[in-house]
Amino acid sequence: MEIQHPQEQPLKPGEVRVRVSYVGICGTDKHLYGGQPGSGEARIPVILGHEISGIVDSLGSEIHSDLKIGDRVAIDPNIPCGVCRFCREGRPQLCENNQAVGVTRNGGMAEYVHVPETNVYKIPDGLSLKAAAMAEPVSCVVHGLDELDIKPHDTALVIGDGFIGQIFTLLLAQQGLKKVAVSGHNPKKIALLKKIGADEVFNPEKEEHSERYDLVIECVGLPNTQEQALTFAARGGQVLMFGVSNPDDTFTIKSYPIFFNELTVKGAFINPHAMQDAIHLMVAGADVESLITHEMQLEDIPDLLAGRIPEKITKAVVRVN
Ligand SMILES: [Zn+2]
Ligand SMILES: [Zn+2]
Repeated sequence: MEIQHPQEQPLKPGEVRVRVSYVGICGTDKHLYGGQPGSGEARIPVILGHEISGIVDSLGSEIHSDLKIGDRVAIDPNIPCGVCRFCREGRPQLCENNQAVGVTRNGGMAEYVHVPETNVYKIPDGLSLKAAAMAEPVSCVVHGLDELDIKPHDTALVIGDGFIGQIFTLLLAQQGLKKVAVSGHNPKKIALLKKIGADEVFNPEKEEHSERYDLVIECVGLPNTQEQALTFAARGGQVLMFGVSNPDDTFTIKSYPIFFNELTVKGAFINPHAMQDAIHLMVAGADVESLITHEMQLEDIPDLLAGRIPEKITKAVVRVN
């Protein structure tokens, strides 16, 4: 089966064509490329890429917003159906028929992408297109934080020093919590984590760590770090399971502390109602662009997705146009 290039297809009513500026490479893209599910099952053949910024290039019929050709935009990839039980309850992330740009329909690893106007967010002049491509991962983090009941005097532990762990650190520090700690294994990242607001960075594999935290956010998705997440929760603590795990993985939990300490364990999936907050937080000073470690070209994508790039990449974006 051949992929029909988006610029050759007519726009459907309510859709706009965006000339892609940047597309982020996400762990989920690697999962999808390897045949595992992302935010849904990929509908192959499909152009991947769900972290997209660009310029509005043409408008289909029946556009109701004030979008204009030439507008700089960030794209929300998720398209909930609007009519299932969860959509009607205001929980579109649980939609039973969710479509997603770059998963079930063609995405941003191409010169052009077609998206419903409802998924297009104008960005202010002060925000770069490179940063705007990060609106989607930031919006997922915003939703994760929305799932927690956060108080200023809480202490927080972020498990994982990768890109998502770094965004959580940045946004938690912006909220002025009593303490933000990060558990990670890469000593080269300690200086950066402290610069973006971590009060403490430790490696639980190397050092005994007895402190417990009101909020624990797991951003790795491996059984041992998920187990740690429960262990590090303080009395009354909340644990957010954010890392994407292998669907067949399991881990062991001690059930008594969940009862005795009244722990809350929550999942957070995708980014409902969070794109505008994500864009605003970046405009208001969350410097997510500085966390991007690699800027690549469209030709580099197969190597990136197959893990054939020898260097250690925390976060790569591809400059498309
Ligand atoms: Zn992603
Ligand atoms: Zn739905």
